[in-house]
Amino acid sequence: MKQIKNYDLEQLKEEMKSIGEKPFRAEQIFKWLYQEKVDSFDEMTNLSLELRKILEQNYTLNEYKILRKQEASDGTKKYLFDILDGNAIETVLMSYHHGYSICVTTQVGCKMGCKFCASTGIPFIRNLTSGEIVEQILAVERDTGVRVSNVVFMGIGEPLDNYDNVINAIRIINNPKGINIGARHISISTSGIVPKIYRLAEENIQCTLSISLHATTNEKRSEMMPINNTYKIEELIQACKDYIAKTNRRVSFEYALAKENNDNLQDAKQLVKLLRGMNCHVNLIPINKIENGKYTKSSNENIMKFRDYLNDHGIVATIRRELGSDIEAACGQLRRKSIKEDSDY
Ligand code: SAH
Repeated sequence: MKQIKNYDLEQLKEEMKSIGEKPFRAEQIFKWLYQEKVDSFDEMTNLSLELRKILEQNYTLNEYKILRKQEASDGTKKYLFDILDGNAIETVLMSYHHGYSICVTTQVGCKMGCKFCASTGIPFIRNLTSGEIVEQILAVERDTGVRVSNVVFMGIGEPLDNYDNVINAIRIINNPKGINIGARHISISTSGIVPKIYRLAEENIQCTLSISLHATTNEKRSEMMPINNTYKIEELIQACKDYIAKTNRRVSFEYALAKENNDNLQDAKQLVKLLRGMNCHVNLIPINKIENGKYTKSSNENIMKFRDYLNDHGIVATIRRELGSDIEAACGQLRRKSIKEDSDY
């Protein structure tokens, strides 16, 4: 069986042609899937009975089962979805004054090994397909009845390590005939896979690129993020400068502040030096403690001092709100789960 939600509109047109149908059927199917959000081919009533039957027999709608849903005191919701192959992934819905943001997962597990992130401690299993990424949005919208307005690729996994499926998912999310969320409301966060940053710059997609920087020296960054042994800070910053030059888009840098690790004035000074003159924004994240993690959150005072230093020296910096930490839904707290290994569903 093929997953019908794996195709972007152009690909679905080709697929329809390959089964002897007119390409405009793809647009009709897109509308049913992403605007009407039907849960069976049978409901696609402007398709012939015969075509509905062919679709039914050859394609799946891949709808997730909710294994668990938790709600934090701030209204953040965390879903554990059964993705129908024995694995479970987490997706988070956050409510902001400007609308709802969804944090989607891109891989079952993660290969990056960042020392401060809970998505790491568990082995990598596989990439999610485009359909499996898109389905997270549909499942959350179906469950809550809300319309998601922002998508952040900041759940489990490294989006640029699942490049093709992530790009394809963005095309479905962004298409006015698909989920119809503007590219400027879509952010991809990466630990810094430099060649893929160059590829992304060529895609002509207006989404926001966020870089998980977290440290300003190679020594410290390599200690926190093994990917830094492959792509050093200088290369990463150069890639960002080239990305900005090519796309004219502002890049975001994420910097998780950990006590006595990367939160003193010297670090702030180095960060200013590193980013000076770039069209960028720094998102400071009070680091969230994870099980067995050695990093702890900086004091509020230090976090504010760090922010003020950056702002006073020409770098726009804001502190990310800590949403969902009481249900382990905050940055770095999501984990892949195996359905068998966790018995309290
Ligand atoms: N793999 C991608 C996206 C997932 S993480 C990436 O590395 O960017 C989304 C953000 O949360 C990243 O900036 C990540 O570094 C950060 N993060 C991970 N663990 C964290 C923790 N314990 N506390 C705060 N932020 C964390």
